[in-house]
Amino acid sequence: MRSNQSDIIIVGGGMVGLAMAAALADTGLSIKVLEKNKLSELSQTALSAQQKISPADYQIRVSAISPANQRFLRELNCWQQIPSSRIANYERMFVWDADGSGQIQFDAAEIGAPYLGAIVENQLIQAAIYFQLQRCSNIEIIENCRIKSLVTNNEVAEVVLADETRLGAHLIIGADGAFSSVRQLVNISCSQSPYQQTAFVANLLTEKPHQNTAWQRFLRTGPLAFLPLQSPNLCSIVWTLDQSETGKIENLDKIELEKKISRAFENKLGGVQLVSEFRGFPLIKRHADRYLSDRVVLIGDAAHTIHPLAGLGVNLGFQDVLCLANLIKDQVDKKRDYWVDANLRPFERERKTANKITQEAMSGFKWLFGSDSLPLTLLRNIGLNAVDQTGLLKQQIMRQAMGQ
Ligand SMILES: Cc1cc2nc3c(=O)[nH]c(=O)nc-3n(C[C@H](O)[C@H](O)[C@H](O)COP(=O)(O)OP(=O)(O)OC[C@H]3O[C@@H](n4cnc5c(N)ncnc54)[C@H](O)[C@@H]3O)c2cc1C
Repeated sequence: MRSNQSDIIIVGGGMVGLAMAAALADTGLSIKVLEKNKLSELSQTALSAQQKISPADYQIRVSAISPANQRFLRELNCWQQIPSSRIANYERMFVWDADGSGQIQFDAAEIGAPYLGAIVENQLIQAAIYFQLQRCSNIEIIENCRIKSLVTNNEVAEVVLADETRLGAHLIIGADGAFSSVRQLVNISCSQSPYQQTAFVANLLTEKPHQNTAWQRFLRTGPLAFLPLQSPNLCSIVWTLDQSETGKIENLDKIELEKKISRAFENKLGGVQLVSEFRGFPLIKRHADRYLSDRVVLIGDAAHTIHPLAGLGVNLGFQDVLCLANLIKDQVDKKRDYWVDANLRPFERERKTANKITQEAMSGFKWLFGSDSLPLTLLRNIGLNAVDQTGLLKQQIMRQAMGQ
């Protein structure tokens, strides 16, 4: 019979919430993960990932995962669970400006690394962590459940589910995504500003092979990225468009849309053929004003969301996990109360600052590349070419992005 009491409750079994459970598995603490979807259905996804599949079977939600976070997930014995046939390592990144001649190429070989990162379907990452967690006797995953309310103060932390079940813990970790109920239920305010853009994602076949390169063209209306998947002519695209453009694009038929995409991409990889739906995600910058409330801590998209132009959102979430897990482990070793605000403060200080800096940098990029002012266009083109030709600076940028 299930006990209604545990040490930690994690609300949200997305990539970040599950990674949090995996990172705490060796503490021996009893942990419950509450997820509103049926995670067990992920087993089906993972099984089909073992087989040879057709381009149309790839999921459209993918993430670029940095080598540092791959290492982190490998240490948790999770990365190894992803079939290697579905991990697309990219060796190069090519970025260029639609207005002018500015361009920059990053090549992993320049810093003696085998690759810059890997593109993996989100569900496979989630499935891999889920399977690893099933081997951990101290972790219980409760799927298909919704939280109705929270009772938290410096004495107790309790989650009330929609079916009135009450679950108690020392600490509740909110990993329930951008629209976090945990954040709202404990009244943590969140600054939000829409980027006034929608990111459209899709998978497509390209006439020419992608050459294990992540491509990104900056258009005035937003960046268009072609991310390589395992098959040499299969790419996942992320096309960010200003609000004024989204209606026009959504009304195109398949052939018109394919033509529009290859034109916007300067036909770099020849003609394209869509093999999936073309789905848009409105982009909003969010940052919780606090990451902590009595016995509650927020991580991942529940605490912050950023523009996907550099593929950093879940990478920041995994860094939240690493930081919080290290802190909790340290407190457990010292037999201190890890759920006390004052003891969790170093996590908030470190991660809030790091996430804020990254958020602001992304907003700066968006502003710089979205501008049609002549001086700014000149500046960014000169800047891109200058960095491209400055070996040491470029190597430094690559190392930073790879988490080295
Ligand atoms: C177009 C696009 C492209 C992106 N590309 C990249 C990329 O290349 N690299 C990168 O690092 N990031 C990328 N991101 C960002 C990345 O997708 C997110 O940062 C990441 O998915 C956040 O993970 P999470 O686990 O914090 O939240 P989520 O993925 O939102 O997971 C939250 C989980 O909580 C569950 N949940 C929600 N509410 C409740 C509740 N009340 N009770 C129980 N469970 C609940 C949900 O079902 C879900 O499983 C991209 C984002 C977009 C929009």
